[in-house]
Amino acid sequence: MSYVDEVYERVIRENPSQPEFHQAVHEVLDSLRPVIDRGEAAYRRDAILERITMPERQLLFRVPWVDDSGSVQVNNAFRVQFSSAIGPYKGGIRLHPSVNLGIIKFLGFEQVFKNALTGLPIGGGKGGSDFDPKGKSDREIMAFCQSFMTELHKYIGADTDVPAGDIGTGAREIGYMYGQYKRLTGLCSGVLTGKGIACGGSPVRREATGYGLLYLTQEMLKANGHQLAGKTIAISGAGNVAIYAAQKAQQLGAKVITFSDSAGWIYDPEGVDVALLRRVKEERRTSLTAYAAERSSAVYHEGRGVFTVKCDIALPCATQNELLLCDAKALAANGCIAVAEGANMPVTAEAAEYLSGSGVLFAPGKAANAGGVAVSALEMSQNAQRLHWTFEEVDNKLQNIMSGIFTAIDSAAREYGMPGNYAAGANIAGFLKVAAAMREQGVV
Ligand code: NDP
Repeated sequence: MSYVDEVYERVIRENPSQPEFHQAVHEVLDSLRPVIDRGEAAYRRDAILERITMPERQLLFRVPWVDDSGSVQVNNAFRVQFSSAIGPYKGGIRLHPSVNLGIIKFLGFEQVFKNALTGLPIGGGKGGSDFDPKGKSDREIMAFCQSFMTELHKYIGADTDVPAGDIGTGAREIGYMYGQYKRLTGLCSGVLTGKGIACGGSPVRREATGYGLLYLTQEMLKANGHQLAGKTIAISGAGNVAIYAAQKAQQLGAKVITFSDSAGWIYDPEGVDVALLRRVKEERRTSLTAYAAERSSAVYHEGRGVFTVKCDIALPCATQNELLLCDAKALAANGCIAVAEGANMPVTAEAAEYLSGSGVLFAPGKAANAGGVAVSALEMSQNAQRLHWTFEEVDNKLQNIMSGIFTAIDSAAREYGMPGNYAAGANIAGFLKVAAAMREQGVV
C-alpha cells in the first residue's frame, strides 16, 4: 500500500464519524501523490503525513450561560490547534448548531495549507461551538461569548493562538470575546482578529474574504484569457463573505444576480442591491424575504437553487458541501466558465471532479478565500506595532497577497504536471512550505 493510502486509512480509523475531516484529508493527500513519489522514503521516515494530519492539540469544553428567561443553557465548544509549524495557530470561531469536532478539524486542517499560501507567518487552527446565535438577544450573545472566552482564554494569546470570525461570529461576537479576554488577562493584545476599528481592528478585515475572492478569481480568469468585467455571477450565502464578494464583483464591472441563506434564495436579474442586502442581513439580521419585499426586480424562492440559474461564474460563499453534483451539471450545461470557493469546501468532491472534467476553471477555497486570514495577519502586524494602516494600504497588500497566491498555485500545478489544476496546486504549494518548516524544527 502506498504511504498516502496508509496514512489516509489511519486517519479514518483514528477519527471515526468525522466525514468532513475525512473528505478534506482525502482531497489533500490524493493531490500530494506526485510530491510524495519524489521522496517517499524521507517523508515516511519523518512521518510528515501522519503529523500533518494529526492536530497538535484538541480542546473540548462546555460553555454554560444564562438565557433571558433565567434558565441555564450549556453548549459544546472546541478549539483545534492544528499546526504551529509556520507561526501561531490562526483560524476562526464558528457558531452554528451543526458544529462538532469533525467539522472543526476539517476547517483547521484546511486552514494550515491556506495560511501557508498567504506567505505570512501563521499556523493553522479553528474553533467553534454548537451555540446558535440566531434569534438570541444581544444580552444572550454577550453572555455566551463571555462564558466561551472565560475558558478559551487559558489557551490562546497574541503569540500562541489568535482566533477570528467565521459563520455566526462577526464583529459583535469578536467584540464581546475580546472584552472578556482583556478583563480576564489585563492584556490589550492582538489576541483576536476581526475586531471593530475602534478597538484595534484593521481596515478591510470585514471586506477581506469577499474582496480577496474576487481578486483571485480575476487573476485566474486573466491567466486563462477571460476578463471579469461584463460577466454574470451567481453567489450563494448572504453573510460576510457573500456580501463583500458581491460588492467587489460589482465594483469590478460584473453583475451579481443571486444570493441565498439557509431558508431560501433571491434571483435579482437586474443585479443585486448590495446596500439593501447589507441592511437586511447585517443590520436587521432578518430573512431574505425582506429583500424581495423592497426590490421589485427580485424574486424569492424557498429552499436551494442558486446554481440552477444561468451564469458565467459561480461563487459558493455559504457553507461546506453546498454545491452538489446536480449543481455542477447545471452550471456546466449553462455555460459557466469558472467556480471559485468563497466558503470552505462548499463544492463536494464529485461536483469538483465534474467541473474539472467539463473544463470549468476551479479555484479551491484554501486559495480563493485566503484573503480573510491574510488581512487578519495584517491586523496582527498592526496590533504588534501599535499602528493603524489606511484602507488603501491594506487593500493594496491584500491584492498583492492574492496575486502571489495565484502565482504559487499556478506554478505548483505546472511543476507537478497538472497545469490548470489549481486545487492540486494549492495543496502542493501549501504542503511544501509546511513540510519544510516541520523538518527544520525536528521531531516536535
Ligand atoms: P456568515 O455567518 O456571515 O454567513 C453565512 C451564510 O451562509 C449565511 O447566509 C447563512 O444563512 C448561510 N449558511 C450557513 N450555514 C448554512 C447551511 N448549513 N445551509 C445553508 N446556508 C447556510 O459566515 P461567513 O460569510 O463568514 O462564512 C461563510 C463561509 O466562508 C464559511 O464556509 C466560512 O468558513 C468561510 N470563510 C469565512 C471567512 C471570513 O472571513 N468570514 C474566511 C474564510 C472562509 P443564514 O443567515 O440563514 O444562517
